[in-house]
Amino acid sequence: MGRKERFGVSIPADLSNRIKEIANRKGVTRSRIIEEVLRNYITESTHEESPHHCSGIIVVVEGKPGLGLETLYEDFREVIVGYAHQHLEGVCVNVIFVSGASQEIENLTRNLSSCGCFTKFMPLHLGDLRRS
Ligand SMILES: [Zn+2]
Repeated sequence: MGRKERFGVSIPADLSNRIKEIANRKGVTRSRIIEEVLRNYITESTHEESPHHCSGIIVVVEGKPGLGLETLYEDFREVIVGYAHQHLEGVCVNVIFVSGASQEIENLTRNLSSCGCFTKFMPLHLGDLRRS
């Protein structure tokens, strides 16, 4: 872990209180929570900024059965490296492991959304995580 730096920030009191509660409950410092939140924010912001090699997972909840997503997955086999399918409370949930061009991953995510699926992409930028 690198050198730490201190700086003042102003946030709403209710938000500050929530963070204090969570920090107490988890037995960690507020700084640790803010650090984690900022790392996630930076990862997501960096992902949207410019094309890059990206890895991560896409969570896909099928809005209705029989969408035939396998054909779509076949079209994007260049970026799909793994796949898990599970029924949760009667709903099909897929977790897709992706690695490749960020534009292709975005394209796949957009296609899944337009099929009526709840879709959430979580970029991992493993190179950044390895350094910390
Ligand atoms: Zn990315």
